Amino acid sequence: MYWSIYQLGPVALADETCWFELVAFRTLETQAFVGSVSHLLDVCLSCFFDPTGIDVRYGVRMRLTGYGDLMLCLKVEMLIADIKAIVQAIGANGVSALLPCFFCRRVLSFAAKAQPRFAAVDELVDLGCLDQDRWCKHTNESLKQLLVDLRHTATTQPQELKAKQTLSGYKHVNGDFLSNSFTNLLPINLICLDWMHLFFQSGNWNREVFQILKHASASARNFNAYELMHAYIDKFAFPAGRGIGNLLSSEHWASCKEAKLFKCQASDGLNLYSVMHRFFVAVLLPAIGGSPQHDTVKLQVDSYGQLCDVVDLLQLSKFGKPVPRALFREKVVDWATVHQNAYGVELWYLKSHLTLHLPDVLDARGEDEEDAMFLACWVLEMCLQSRKVCTTLLSCMCTASCIHA
Ligand SMILES: [Zn+2]
Repeated sequence: MYWSIYQLGPVALADETCWFELVAFRTLETQAFVGSVSHLLDVCLSCFFDPTGIDVRYGVRMRLTGYGDLMLCLKVEMLIADIKAIVQAIGANGVSALLPCFFCRRVLSFAAKAQPRFAAVDELVDLGCLDQDRWCKHTNESLKQLLVDLRHTATTQPQELKAKQTLSGYKHVNGDFLSNSFTNLLPINLICLDWMHLFFQSGNWNREVFQILKHASASARNFNAYELMHAYIDKFAFPAGRGIGNLLSSEHWASCKEAKLFKCQASDGLNLYSVMHRFFVAVLLPAIGGSPQHDTVKLQVDSYGQLCDVVDLLQLSKFGKPVPRALFREKVVDWATVHQNAYGVELWYLKSHLTLHLPDVLDARGEDEEDAMFLACWVLEMCLQSRKVCTTLLSCMCTASCIHA
């Protein structure tokens, strides 16, 4: 778990030296922790909000070299994490629930909407619906009210709690983090989606790349789109000495086929996405021209091009540029439309739907165009890898010393 100061701004927050480690724990510990991740967050953050010691809500004096004294008054402004961690931290029901999206009140999973009891209800839509007016999005007030209702039901009518939780998409959690006094008490504004996970961590990008290569490879016997792409990418030199190493190999493609997505580390995906677009348009489509697969792959490449436009805009914050709100919303909707034009809802899943909420996340940061920024967790990608090695080693040492004791 890492923390930083929001006001440091998007450029600083895109650098991992500006994020500070609060605590490192293993998944096993979060599962065993009594009272869920919400409680764990409460305990870990309480070191900043100690009423008997230092409580940063009321200010703490800091002295900075070259600047002098300043007073910091802090509260929890934003929680950014992957979907699984957000779901656990806020007490949402999650991916396989009746209502998988924690931002919406009328969006059912595909499986739930297909059930006869919901299929006929016009007000309810499935995850593939692109008409945002029908989603009935939560506001800060509606979500606060829901959490109060669930708490009330838990104490006064506990026998009704389960049904209420199923139909609302949220669980009653004692000390729910969304209602924690450490936060700004605006629950919708608190939740920030991490676009890196939505696109590059088994995300939209990984799925679309795999589909294009798979369909193009089926265009002719002995035609291998993956190998052609490999040869094309090899000609490029990547910045900051970050090559793609041994990412591309026959073993790699075999593991992609097994996972049905293009597997690679998020930062490698960021290096590759625009080069791949150039390859798809300039090399791959002409190479399969005239084949029965051409028209299908053309639609898929159109979708990929829109996806690249969205990623281009998402990256602006890293360079200190505000993300143009209206243009971003338009580009995200364009991508969703062209994507469904190419794939229907075959590839559409919670991350695709949540991508359409990214403009809302941007709007939650206020109306000032200068404040329109996105953050992503991949600044901590390298850091996280070394933490994983350390915690694994510590865990082994722990076992060893127990045995010797
Ligand atoms: Zn939603």
